[in-house]
Order: sequence, then structure tokens, then C-alpha cells
Amino acid sequence: AGRNVSYFHETDSTNTQAKKLGEEGAPAGTLAVADRQNAGKGRRGRSWESPPGRDIYMSLLLRPDIRPSDAPMLTLVMAQSVAEALREQTGIDARIKWPNDIVAGGKKLCGILTEMSAEIDYINYVVIGVGINVNQPSFPEEIADRATSLMLEAGRTFLRAPLIAAVMERFEENCSLFLGTRDLSGIQAAYNDLLVNVGEKVRVLEPGHEYSALSSGINKKGELLVQKEDGTTEAVFAGEVSVRGI
Ligand code: ATP
Repeated sequence: AGRNVSYFHETDSTNTQAKKLGEEGAPAGTLAVADRQNAGKGRRGRSWESPPGRDIYMSLLLRPDIRPSDAPMLTLVMAQSVAEALREQTGIDARIKWPNDIVAGGKKLCGILTEMSAEIDYINYVVIGVGINVNQPSFPEEIADRATSLMLEAGRTFLRAPLIAAVMERFEENCSLFLGTRDLSGIQAAYNDLLVNVGEKVRVLEPGHEYSALSSGINKKGELLVQKEDGTTEAVFAGEVSVRGI
């Protein structure tokens, strides 16, 4: 993964570019990288703050031979890979906030956005977008209390290319485990070790419905297992859900 790279000085969003490459027949493993995004995307139409020159904006194009309903697990495979790469390259205590964020000290270092083009039973392509705050010294007021960068955490700057290479390397290994079983059994234990709020109370925010529960980590399908206050266990699917520590 990431041996065929399309580089953009400035683009709307690397996910949009990777999807375009996907439509044009680019091979699996193609990576779209930009120095700056002018319309960086988060989940549910939210935006990703993407200033020039300092951070990582990249999107990996894949054509996995899996069911479309299994594709959301790729977000968790990437989250695990980013967390491992950042820990090994920077020494920062990078952890995972299920399903799609990497945090340090509770603040967001990285967001992941997976998009897919599929028929009912066939994936045309998947794009996994990764935004990492590398050398950002400060953030806009609206997100200043929720965002951080590798530089702010480690007190030094980092080169971006070795970080990108490390993420791709970790992803290749974790993704081949995933494709071997088509579930997360190969990385489940390691993922749960890096997951925040395990054994703690969380607030589960589903569209139109929210509740408090005790988080106990993911199952091999990548669902977050939580015990509700009435004693029942729920497997929360990654779709449109947010989980907050309380
Ligand atoms: P939640 O944190 O509620 O689970 P999410 O993980 O779904 O949300 P995303 O949609 O992945 O969040 O990311 C978009 C959100 O992240 C924005 O609404 C903003 O709050 C925050 N954000 C935007 N840009 C950055 C950035 N560069 N670094 C950290 N956080 C950011």
C-alpha cells in the first residue's frame, strides 16, 4: 500500500481525489496525498481543519474482496495502524477513540473517514482518508480544547514522509490479518489495549437516541460492546455513532 502515490500541492479533499482515481481504474494501494485541503471532510458532512505545510492529509484506495457490509471494519484496521505507527515513531501515548479517531490526552490527533463505492454484494473501491495533525502549533478556537498535534504532544517537529511510510507499513500487516479472516480477530486484542474508556462509563450518541453505558471494548466485528444501565449488553455498530467519555 502507498507505493503508487498521487501528490497534490492543494486539493479539495484527498478522499475526493482518491475516489476520482478509483473511478479512473487506479490500482489498489494508490495513495492520494496533499499538502493542503480546502474542503477537508469529517463524518456526517463535518469539516476537517486542514492548513498548509504542516500536517498529513492522505487517502488510500483499496479494492478489497470483501462484502460491502464488512468495509466499516477497515476504519478500525486503519485506526489501529495509525496508533501503532505514531506510538513507534513519536513515543507519544497515542490511543484509539472508537471507531475512527486517534487521541492523545483525550484530544484528537487524527481522524479517519472511510467511503465506498459498491453494489449490493460487490465493492468497486474503498477510500480510507487519514488526517494527522503533525506540526500544527495551535488550532481555531472552536476545536482548540479538543484537538492536538504530534508537535504539541512531543515538543518537537516531525517529518511527514517517514510517518506516512510507517502508517502504510502497519496497515499492510494489519490489513492482511483482516483479509485472512474477514474479521478483526487478528487485531482485536491489540485494538482493545489501545482503546480509551474501556471499563469506563461512556455516553453513546446515536441519531435521535442517546444513553449512558459501560464500555468493554470491541468484538471481532468491530462493534463496541457496552453494558446498559438495565443490565443488557449492546453491540454498537460504527455507522453514525459517537461515543464520549464522561
Ligand atoms: P466525535 O468526535 O463526536 O466522535 P467524529 O469522530 O465523528 O466526532 P469527525 O467527523 O471524524 O468527528 O471529525 C470532524 C470533527 O473533528 C469536526 O467537527 C471538529 O470538531 C473536529 N476537527 C476538525 N478538524 C480537526 C483537526 N484538524 N484536528 C482535530 N479535530 C478536528
